[in-house]
Amino acid sequence: MTDLIVTLDGPAGTGKSTVSKAVADRLGLPRLDTGAFYRAAGLAALRAGVDLEDHQAVADVVAGVIFDQETGRMYLDGEDVSEVIRGQAATVASSVVSTHPDVRGLLVVYQREWVTRHENRAVVEGRDIGSVVFPDATLKVYLDARPEVRAARRAAQTGLNSAEVLEELSDRDRRDSTRDASPLIVPDGAVVIDTSDMSVVEVVEMIVDLARRAAA
Ligand code: C5P
Repeated sequence: MTDLIVTLDGPAGTGKSTVSKAVADRLGLPRLDTGAFYRAAGLAALRAGVDLEDHQAVADVVAGVIFDQETGRMYLDGEDVSEVIRGQAATVASSVVSTHPDVRGLLVVYQREWVTRHENRAVVEGRDIGSVVFPDATLKVYLDARPEVRAARRAAQTGLNSAEVLEELSDRDRRDSTRDASPLIVPDGAVVIDTSDMSVVEVVEMIVDLARRAAA
């Protein structure tokens, strides 16, 4: 079978997870959530009690554990950490540890291997997928939305208040966009979709259509 890799990048709260799940279902492809690797790495560093800003210490922790993801569940050394990585502590930790180049290098190896294992046919979501991890993907999409819309969506998901979420999202956006290692950018050749005033169904339809055409 020919390769079919669809990448979805963009900041938090743009609908990446929901959209990538639905697109993967529609195209009959597996989905890889790369954010879950950074969350699991953040959790591993928190559990090890190392200073999250200490590049070497965090990289040593990450090099010493095994990451895997299957059918949407994230495993750290074989333990299913899918729920705990969604907590506030792991969320903030993921954003800090993801600024370390060595950590990114280690996790990108897992992500590429995962896609190879799945015969180079997958929907992959993250922040640097179309720019760094799979620059030659069949279709690259960059999802965006206005900050207030993103914060409101996140608040609805987490039950936290919108003002708090907006502050946390702004901090994460700033770290993601200004880091030296693989900053969040619109990848070359990506289709940019502003999801602020679109329904999930509309976004999914658009991407499925683009993917089918790109694969034809
Ligand atoms: O997508 P999600 O919110 O689960 O990602 C958690 C964090 O992991 C992000 O805030 C970002 O800092 C980092 N991340 C990254 N590169 C990716 C995916 C996520 O740096 N490909």
